[in-house]
Amino acid sequence: MDEAASQPILAIDLGGTQIRAAYVSPDLALACRRAGRTDDREGLEAVVERICSIAGRVRDDAREAGLPDPVGVGISSPGPLDPWRGVVTAPPNLAGWVDVPLVERVGDYIGLPTYLERDTNVAIMAEWRHGAAQGADDAIYVTVSTGIGGGIVVDGRPLIGKDGTAGEIGHMVVELDGPLCGDGCQGHVEAIASGTAIAREGRALLAAGNAPHLATLAGPTGEVDAALVGEAADAGDEACQSVLAHAWTAIGAMCASLVNVLNPEVIVLGGSIALNRPELQGRVRDEINRRAFPTPARRVRVEMAQHAADVSLIGLLPIVNARLHDPAFAKEHP
Ligand SMILES: [Zn+2]
Repeated sequence: MDEAASQPILAIDLGGTQIRAAYVSPDLALACRRAGRTDDREGLEAVVERICSIAGRVRDDAREAGLPDPVGVGISSPGPLDPWRGVVTAPPNLAGWVDVPLVERVGDYIGLPTYLERDTNVAIMAEWRHGAAQGADDAIYVTVSTGIGGGIVVDGRPLIGKDGTAGEIGHMVVELDGPLCGDGCQGHVEAIASGTAIAREGRALLAAGNAPHLATLAGPTGEVDAALVGEAADAGDEACQSVLAHAWTAIGAMCASLVNVLNPEVIVLGGSIALNRPELQGRVRDEINRRAFPTPARRVRVEMAQHAADVSLIGLLPIVNARLHDPAFAKEHP
């Protein structure tokens, strides 16, 4: 895998709200950045055309800047998706997207080998090859933001699964009779500890009149998100503190189970909520010590992510370089 970071690529990060693209050099420098709104309400075709045109502009900018030609294109996208076929299956935050052959569309437009991977798997590649999990043979990336996602490296290889769905750790059951998850299942950690879940609990506290600081912060609109629940907790709302404490315990319990099952060297915490609530790191550590076997609990390090928002662009560098030489992905070449 040493050659995996040897050639520059064109990286595209398709998010629920924003499309970002950049030229990524082997030294991890990002150049020729471009961005645009995803705006999935305009329909699938408009979004795909926007992705192609943003990527095309990055390619043209890089050419004008005299940079070496990129060897391929990487696309980070919300899951579920099929990296083998290069198809975005049906992401819940991209309305109307069902079995979209994104690799074929972007590959045809740019004229370079193109590869697709789930955003959380891209993130762990960034942290594993170039960040907080560098050098580890066994690592887990946990992202806590709107949802809870993850990526897993076992024996020095990313765990992708037969259908590309491995690593969906946010849908581990941590409370048998817990709240319903967005997928309709009960007790998933995402339904307890994601930004969406924390905001839902905050709105319930507001409605019950149990969170005076939250009520002041929310103002007349009454709009509540996870960050506001955090602010209210910091200001002294005990009920908001309890919501967060319960969420962090759930994430810690999930990590303890992962430690028992996978015996990782490092767990990396990323995503906007994890990065904004540094107490999560200590709480995860405590729950691992409390709930996991002593030997793997002593082994595992709990680290914060190093690449923040660029994780989805940087992680595509090793992915594209490795897949260019992987016969399993040869069929995706345009
Ligand atoms: Zn779920």
